[in-house]
Amino acid sequence: MALIAILPGDGIGPEVTREARRVLEQVGDFDFEEASVGGAAYRETGHPLPDATLALAKRSDAVLFGAIGDPEFESLERSLRPEAALLGIRKELGLFANLRPAKLFAGLEEASSLRPEIARSIDVMIVRELTGDVYFGEKGQGTTDAGLREGHDLMRYDEAEVARIARVGFETAKRRKGLLCSVDKANVLETSQLWRDVVIEISAEYPDVSLSHMYVDNAAMQLVRDPGQFDVIVTGNLFGDILSDQASMCAGSIGMLPSASLAGEGGLGMYEPIHGSAPDIAGQGKANPCAAILSAAMLLRYSLGMTDAADRIEAAVAKAIADGARTADLGGTLSTGAMADAVLGALA
Ligand code: NAD
Repeated sequence: MALIAILPGDGIGPEVTREARRVLEQVGDFDFEEASVGGAAYRETGHPLPDATLALAKRSDAVLFGAIGDPEFESLERSLRPEAALLGIRKELGLFANLRPAKLFAGLEEASSLRPEIARSIDVMIVRELTGDVYFGEKGQGTTDAGLREGHDLMRYDEAEVARIARVGFETAKRRKGLLCSVDKANVLETSQLWRDVVIEISAEYPDVSLSHMYVDNAAMQLVRDPGQFDVIVTGNLFGDILSDQASMCAGSIGMLPSASLAGEGGLGMYEPIHGSAPDIAGQGKANPCAAILSAAMLLRYSLGMTDAADRIEAAVAKAIADGARTADLGGTLSTGAMADAVLGALA
């Protein structure tokens, strides 16, 4: 039986993962094991990512992650802060591919920053490389010959890093509408030229996926002008960071948006809502559990190959929303548990 590790974390993390677990229990038989992470783990053990938590994540088939972050620990040294657990776990599990779907559920048009008729067309999956690029290249600060302070960060990818994320992009597109748009800045960046060359080489393995290329500045514009033109976008760490946040806000409330971080096709994955621990509403039963529930659906789809169950959960969330179920962030009055009940009701 598949083992799902649940790392609830801080703030609303435990509140939303509890509901996601109820939904998982309704669609299949799984072993669940929980372990603490983030501020909660620091409080228990003195470290935000205890060895036992990491060991559980490594031996599980998939990890469902809540959220981390606790204002109480903001003055700790960086390596002991809750956020260090997230970076540590991504690194330890080799999670190099970040998948963020941005899809507007019918009925939530008013929550989008875009006009309803444009917002309605968004259904894009952004595949972002997560462990390379300018964030991980050589970096530093110094002084120029003229005595001016300077800073630098090296943008760098090797062909193997590009090839493996490109394959995730193509595989993802294959499961959707078969359209892959690779976003780069090949008109000015050598890193991007290599990126584009390698993506084109890999495309030979996927004759059934239609590949296009777009410069990142144009992609930012097109995402708000005509988001419906995109199916899957594959891009590097820096461009993906920015575009995925942009796309998520086009799709409405942060409480609706899931994500997956993968070590490769069919490999171990970690699934989490894109929101944080929301200390302002923690413990009040106000959190929207849909991002966590939709993260659980991604877990079934990408790590356990349970496509039908994933489809059913996504359809149940859509139905609950269409039937008017709303937490406070969506302008309604339902509690976290009642919103999950609505999804469970739609599943049944
Ligand atoms: P946040 O995402 O926690 O909250 C931003 C706003 O959105 C808040 O007003 C919050 O109430 C609301 N919100 C978030 N999730 C919601 C949900 N499910 N339902 C209803 N409303 C929701 O971001 P923040 O306030 O900038 O950060 C709080 C803490 O979370 C910080 O410590 C930060 O470092 C951490 N953080 C963690 C992650 C993560 O675990 N992946 C991501 C982002 C921020």
